[in-house]
Amino acid sequence: MKVVSIVLWCVVGLWMAPALAQPVPGNMNVQWDAGSTDCQAHPQRRLQVHRYNQSTYILRESLCQTYEGPFIYLLIGSSRALLIDTGDVADATQMPLASTVLGLLPVVNGQRLPLLIVHTHGHLDHRSGDTQFAAAPNVTILGTDLAHVIDGFGFRQWPEDIAHIDLGGRTVDVIPTPGHYPSHVSFYDGNSGLAFTGDFFLPGRLIIDDTAADRASAVRINDFLRDRPVTYVLGGHIELNKRGQVEPQGSNWHPDEAPLPLGKDDLAQLPQVLAGFNGFYSQSGRFVMYSQARMLQVISAAGILLLIVIALSLRWWFKRRRHAHAGHP
Ligand SMILES: [Zn+2]
Ligand SMILES: [Zn+2]
Repeated sequence: MKVVSIVLWCVVGLWMAPALAQPVPGNMNVQWDAGSTDCQAHPQRRLQVHRYNQSTYILRESLCQTYEGPFIYLLIGSSRALLIDTGDVADATQMPLASTVLGLLPVVNGQRLPLLIVHTHGHLDHRSGDTQFAAAPNVTILGTDLAHVIDGFGFRQWPEDIAHIDLGGRTVDVIPTPGHYPSHVSFYDGNSGLAFTGDFFLPGRLIIDDTAADRASAVRINDFLRDRPVTYVLGGHIELNKRGQVEPQGSNWHPDEAPLPLGKDDLAQLPQVLAGFNGFYSQSGRFVMYSQARMLQVISAAGILLLIVIALSLRWWFKRRRHAHAGHP
């Protein structure tokens, strides 16, 4: 009888195992506010909060508060919570980030769950809200420069290895994805199956400052996710419309935004797409890639060339005038 029950439990266990490995489902049915061409006349919610599931939130700063409209992610474990990025707005009266996030944290035995704040990378539109949390108790903020990222996450061989954050019953993996920014990281939450890719991979402009590092990152993250379930790949912004065109830079109004989530298949295309990047500006389907630094170099070189042409033309014109005057006293 005992043997039979052990065998039965093994069978049940084997049958249950794949089910347990499946990500906790969530709701991605959300309409993000479109912003406005006249934000004074049409005020918007400053911070939109979407509850993906009972322990995962997606927050977005209003396009009226910042044209960047960055996304911020809150993952709650049993012993602490993780906030990925803090957006573009420092002033709490303009953007109630800290009060909103702290209000979402569960209270256990009269104590709010501790919060760890991390960032996909150090650009200001992903970390300006840090200051709002500075005085809050039980909040730890990890720095964004490479030394802090390596030390804080515990990387032993940046950028080859993977680090892990234990939230209590929920482990988040940290994958180095430099290229857009030297210390850029992406996150994978096995609990929800969500991957958070910041500005490394998003429905928008892929700004690449180190092409070789970016290509290696694309291979690295795909290698890591290959055998893991991925429900959605979530970036830091939406900059494409539903027709796959890039929204005008700096616009507070996105009337027809593409969905935020990308898929594992989209990410799997990235190494191939990046192979075709010419180092300056390339477009492959809906992927627009460019190097801001190289573009600036080209623009400055073109500006200098234009000034030289103008100076030479003026010199030639003055010379002609002088000759004309000399010929006709
Ligand atoms: Zn960035
Ligand atoms: Zn950004």
